Amino acid sequence: MPRWISDSCIACGSCVEVCPVDCISEGDIYVIDEDSCIDCGACEEVCPTGAISER
Ligand code: SF4
Ligand code: SF4
Repeated sequence: MPRWISDSCIACGSCVEVCPVDCISEGDIYVIDEDSCIDCGACEEVCPTGAISER
């Protein structure tokens, strides 16, 4: 399942650095392009606030 980012995001940027397909956009809350996400789970592992989970 693609990942998505909840409003627990603190915009730390860690997920962007590890995403192999660069499908995460910066902002007040970061956003994953679910059509491009390959479901690798790397972002979920590094998120310090647990903001990323599976759809
Ligand atoms: S699960 Fe993988 S491909 Fe999808 S947004 Fe996270 S790091 Fe990127
Ligand atoms: S790693 Fe988590 S807190 Fe940091 S920008 Fe990504 S979703 Fe937001």
